[in-house]
This record gives sequence, C-alpha cells and structure tokens, in this order.
Amino acid sequence: MSGFTLTGARVVDPAGGRDEVANVSIDGEIVVAVGGQVQGTRVDADGLVLAPGLVDLHVHLREPGREDAETVESGTAAAAAGGFTAVCPMANTDPVCDHAGVVEQVSRLAREAGHCDVYPIGAITRGLRGEELAEMGAMAAQGVRCFSDDGMPVRSAQVMRRALEYARTWDAIICNHAEEAALTGPAQMNEGELSSLLGLAGWPHEAEEVMVARDLILARGRGARLHVPHVSTAGAVDLIRDAKARGARVTAEAAPHHFTLVDELVATYDPVYKVNPPLRTKEDVEAVRCGLADGTIDAIATDHAPHPPEQKEQEWAHAPCGMLGLETALAVTLTELVDAQPRVLTLSKALGALSTNPARSRDIGGHGGPIQPGAPANLVLFDPSQRWTVDARALHSRSRNTPFAGTQLRGRVISTLLRGRFTFRDGVLA
Ligand SMILES: [Zn+2]
Repeated sequence: MSGFTLTGARVVDPAGGRDEVANVSIDGEIVVAVGGQVQGTRVDADGLVLAPGLVDLHVHLREPGREDAETVESGTAAAAAGGFTAVCPMANTDPVCDHAGVVEQVSRLAREAGHCDVYPIGAITRGLRGEELAEMGAMAAQGVRCFSDDGMPVRSAQVMRRALEYARTWDAIICNHAEEAALTGPAQMNEGELSSLLGLAGWPHEAEEVMVARDLILARGRGARLHVPHVSTAGAVDLIRDAKARGARVTAEAAPHHFTLVDELVATYDPVYKVNPPLRTKEDVEAVRCGLADGTIDAIATDHAPHPPEQKEQEWAHAPCGMLGLETALAVTLTELVDAQPRVLTLSKALGALSTNPARSRDIGGHGGPIQPGAPANLVLFDPSQRWTVDARALHSRSRNTPFAGTQLRGRVISTLLRGRFTFRDGVLA
C-alpha cells in the first residue's frame, strides 16, 4: 500500500461510538483500516487525539465584497488551522449570495484554495431585504441545503412562512437570525443594569426569544426544518428544548463566545467584545452550557466574523459587530467545557457538537465521521494537553478581532486532513 498509518492516537469518533487508542490507515482519499497493523508509512501520533474533522455551520468568509476583512482563501486557511474540514459561509456578502452565480463563485474559490470543503448558505430573500424570496430553487439545484439572511432577521412572518414552505420542497433548512428588530433598534449591548449604567442602548433577551418562538411556530405549522443560529439566552434554550420535546424539526447552534464570555466585559468599552447577539449574563452563559450538555443545542458554530482593525478598533458605538472564531473554537471548547470543574461535556460529546452533529444536521456527507474503512479521511489530530496563548497576529485570518487574544487555552490542533491530504501539518499550513 502507498498510504500511511497514524499510530498511537486516541481515536475519538462520536459517530462510530469509538474512544480507544488505535492505528488508523489511510490510502488515497479514504480510511482503509482502524485498529490494524501499520500499513505504508508510519506517522507518529502518540499522545494525540484523532477525531472527525470539525464542521462549522456558521462562518463569514467576506468574499465577494469585503476582501480586506477576509477572503475565501484566508478564511478557509484559518479553518484548516482550526481543525475544520468543512465550513458553511453565510450569504451576507457583496453581492449577496442570493442567486446561483455567487454560490458558484464561492465554491470555485474554495476548490482553488483547497483548505477545506465549503458549503455556501443561500440567502432567504433577495438582497437580504426581507421582501421577495431569493432564487432558492436555483441554489438548491446547486446543492445548497440551508438558507439564511444572517445578520438581518426575516421580519415578516408571511415571508418567513413562505420560505419555510418553499424550503420544505427540497427538505432544506431555514436559519433565521433571531432578532425582533422592533425591540433592538440601535442596540449596542445586552439590555440590563449594566447597559443603563454604561448608557448604551440595550438588546433585550426577549428580542431573541420572540423571534425564536415565532419561527418555531411557523416551522411546526409547515412541517419544515428550522435551524436556530447563535443561541444566546436562557429563554431561547428553553423554547428550543420544549419544541424538541414535542418533536419539532429544529436544530440549534451556540458560539464559543456565548458559552464563555459575559456582558460585564463591555464595561471595558473594548469593541472586540461587540457582537450580535450580544454577550449576555452569567445566567444565560450557564443556560447555553446546559443546552449543550443536554443536547438541546446540537452544534458549536463559531459565527467567525472578521473585521479589519481600522473598522473594528473604533469607538464602541461605531465598531461593527462580530468576532473571529475558527482558530480558537476547539481549544475554547476543550478548556471551558471539557476541562471545566464540573465538566460540562465529555470529550466525545464536545467533538460531537463540533463535528458529527453539525454535519448531520445539515446533511453534509463524508464529514463528522464515522472513522471507518471506506469513509473519506476527513480528520483532525490535536494535542489535548498542550497549553498555548492566543496571539491575534499569529492567526491565519486576515483580521485580528479575537476576544481570546492573550488568553491561555488548553488543546492545540496539530494536523488536519481533507480526504487523506494534509491541509495543516504539525502546526503549519500544508
Ligand atoms: Zn446572525
């Protein structure tokens, strides 16, 4: 055989229910053996964890239109460095990904870059204006499985209902940015005592919950699939938990910053903490963690949102919302949820939320495991105990707006493989 065997790694495969030290042999694009003898070249992975490549349901790659912030090339390089083998970029580019041409452009740029698989999300409405539906059929014909106006809520219940009904034709998924704009207006941070104290307009938790409730009702009525992005409030977690108990076809994601950072950070007026939905209270953070632990929240998604320094590093009120996430998501999850006392997620559950669950919730075949003979070798190798300090300048993203700069984390990506090929190897982009 001409391939290689990763030896000595702890193979943690949530999809296959495996957690044991085993050799994994790869030939060409596929896994050919798990737990066998060394075949081909030996690649030492002693002390490392081998898992299905991570899958991110929510990123902003900014191309076309904002190549000063990120490009498909730089964003997918950041993904590979973060252990991701598949990412789903949102449609709020310029031009908007509301027709087949942009889907084709982003897909082509991703293939040329070759760092990871990219599954573009199509817009729900033309120009994200919330009025007429986008060319959903043409995009679905290109393989688009999820539609979202992320960044902008679909305000009209009528438009949302039609979108859900239409998406059901292809069993596609609608993901609505959950914000009732009538309640947020010029909001700058989470609404509470602190927003009054700081004199910043508040983004009340009800604005998220009203929209989630509406969407759950509409999705249920249409028998359609709904995905709730960046869940940030305790009330939203409860709504999704109840809907799941009643058999709704709903999935949900949470971003690392929403299960680690709290609104008190806004008191620094450092715009790196400005994000939509905003950082919430300790109680909300705890509820999001519980939602991940009990499976109410299926996936950890980064909402990777690059902004160049000249935009992001402005006075709080003028700075745009958003944070980087791709290169810190795994380590933040390991540090804050797996190593936490008390532990929030087992390692297998954490990797399920970063890989298996997102792949399945969006019908992304070949990713998220299982790691078994015949499966595409989409894998991540990481050192679960290595400590490192986040250096914003060392990231592969074109932007630097990480809220974890200077933070010491535990768990570091060593290598990433896409269909048997290293996209990131021994800490260097391949
Ligand atoms: Zn959003």
